[in-house]
Formats: sequence, structure tokens, C-alpha cells
Amino acid sequence: MSFYHTYERMKDFDFKIYWDGLGDADIQRALSKTTINEMDYLTLLSPRASNYLEKIAQKAHRLTIQHFGRTMQLFTPMYLSNFCSNHCVYCSFSARHNYMRKKLTLEQVDVEAKYIAATGLKHILILTGESPKHSPVSYIEDCVKVLKRHFDSISIEIYPMEMEDYNRLVDAGVDGLTVFQEVYNEETYQPLHPRGPKKNYRFRLDTPERGCRAGMRNVNIGALLGLENWRQEAFFTGLHADYLQDNYLDTEISVSIPRIRPNVGGFTPKYDVQDRHLVQVILALRLFMPRCGITLSTRESPDLRDNLVQLGITKMSAGVSTEVGGHTEDSSGTGQFEISDQRSVPEIKEMLLGKGYQPVCKNWEPLDGAAGW
Ligand code: SF4
Repeated sequence: MSFYHTYERMKDFDFKIYWDGLGDADIQRALSKTTINEMDYLTLLSPRASNYLEKIAQKAHRLTIQHFGRTMQLFTPMYLSNFCSNHCVYCSFSARHNYMRKKLTLEQVDVEAKYIAATGLKHILILTGESPKHSPVSYIEDCVKVLKRHFDSISIEIYPMEMEDYNRLVDAGVDGLTVFQEVYNEETYQPLHPRGPKKNYRFRLDTPERGCRAGMRNVNIGALLGLENWRQEAFFTGLHADYLQDNYLDTEISVSIPRIRPNVGGFTPKYDVQDRHLVQVILALRLFMPRCGITLSTRESPDLRDNLVQLGITKMSAGVSTEVGGHTEDSSGTGQFEISDQRSVPEIKEMLLGKGYQPVCKNWEPLDGAAGW
């Protein structure tokens, strides 16, 4: 099985003709359905549907409350290393940029973990640049052993691996996998990833599926909006999430909606994704996949994040640094990208409580960690 077959089925679809042919009645029909199919989802991503954002928002709000309550899961990323063997043109960690790289020792991981855990967060997302040489599976395993002393849930955002390696990490205590396809359009993908293992589009595309098979409890995917036509990329992201949700019933599937931020190298995205575009993606996705987690990062401004709390997102990062050891080391390194929302964990909690939402720092832990079992 592979999502690639779904991608192939739709990749030559004439999106422009479809969207140009839509009338108001088509939008209203999609909005009136209890469950929507992939063509309804495409309809809600159309330029014409942008005139109906208020109505779509009301339905997205209802569905989110129905499936998630007034809760928001909080987590923070922790950067272990910024060594990378890829040359993605939009990222500060690209191997083509020449600066002093860093990788945390296990002692530094412990210090950083203690600091983050003191904020009350029990879920952590660990990241590295994509360099199996500098961050081999054994290093990630060792870091996870340290992190388990401080956190109940550990997710990884590292390089795509074979299933056997994911099995090792699941055994070590990793329960979540984040892997961004970045760009679903296969032709656009190639020049944006000119050198390094990431050139292999298909291997990356099948990575979330290998994570599901390896027993990851949570798999999070996404496209980096701005690299291609955002409406089409949002469509393929939704189809991918739907495919995974249908085929891996034991895995909780979620989607992140990142936009490009300022980075070393000054890459400017070709496609302008405005706030209202991002909102349309989140709302349409919520109607298409009512049970799907939606993550919004600190790439977005405090105002926008606050306004989106009630419209479909279910997970937010807080107290973020995108530098290696950025929570406790001197802040003189190079971050992966500039963040926009600088607020601390207590500030984000306060904002959520003010809106009548419960900040969730821990919503589960593995059974083998539970006393008495
Ligand atoms: S996006 Fe990931 S793989 Fe690409 S350069 Fe940045 S860290 Fe490396």
C-alpha cells in the first residue's frame, strides 16, 4: 500500500477548471452535508468558498467542540542537533550554509529536559537536522532514555527511517512521529531539495505509513505552505491524512499547518499564503476530518493563534526555541527559522484559560509506565 497511488490518481487533475466551475450552490451543498467527501473538501478550499469563511468557521467550531471539547494540548520542541545532510533551499539548517553546528551531549539533554519539564509540559517533540551520521538511531535512543525521566510522551521529528528503526525507537519509548512532506507536488519537490537523501520524494512520502506500521501512537504530517499552490497542497495533505486514518485505525493522525518563516539564506516563498488562506485551510480540513488533530506552531503571530483557538486547532507549541539547546544554553546559535509567538508556557496557559479552554500538558502515558500494572 502507498499513498502514492492516491497522489497519482489526482496529480493531473485540473484544479483551476474545477474551481472556476463552482457556483455558490456548490459551496452551500458541501456545507450542508454531515460528512464531506474529498471533492467537497476541494470545494471548500476553492477561491469561491473563501466568501463563506464565517459559515464554515461556525461548523468547524461545532465539530471541534464535539470531538475534542474545549481543550488544547500543549507541547514544545527540543532541538538536539542541527547537523543536516540535505540542501533544502528554505531552511537555515541546510548543509549549504556554513556555520558552527551543535549537537547536545546526554548531560545537556538532561539539563534542557529538566528546564522544560519545570514549566509543567509532559509532552516533548525532539528534533534534529537530518543527519544519520551525527544523530544515529543509537543517539536518539540514548536521548529518549534521558527524556523518559522527565516526560510522559516523546515524539520525534528527525530523518525518515526504515520501519525496523522506528520499531527500535518505539521500544525505547517514542510514541509520536512528525514528518513533513513539505511539498506534495512531485515536480516542484525536486528543485527545492537539490541534494541529500531528501531528494527521494517517494521514500519520504511513505514515511508516515512506516511509522504507523511500526506502532507509533501518533503520526503528524504536513506541507510547508508557500512552496507550491497552497490550495492544492492543502488538498493533498488532507487526502494523505485521510488515507492514513482509514488504513491505520490504531494511530492518531494529526496535521500541522506551517508557513515559511524568515531563514538563513533568505529564501522567499513563491506563493503568498495570507492569514485568511491559512484560516480557510484549517476550517476546510476540520470539516473533512472532524477527528483529526490540527497543530499550530509559534511560526504564527500571537493574535492569529489566539483567534484560531476556537476554530479547529487542537495542539499548540509553547515556550519555543528553534536553536539547539535554546532553552538553557547561550542564545547565540542559529535557529531553524524565526518564531513569531515568543510567549512562555504560563502565558499561553493564561490565554487559553481566558478563553474558557483547558490547557492539557498531559493527556496520556504509556501503560508500561503506569504504577500497579
Ligand atoms: S528542512 Fe530538515 S532536512 Fe531540510 S535542511 Fe532543514 S533540517 Fe535539513
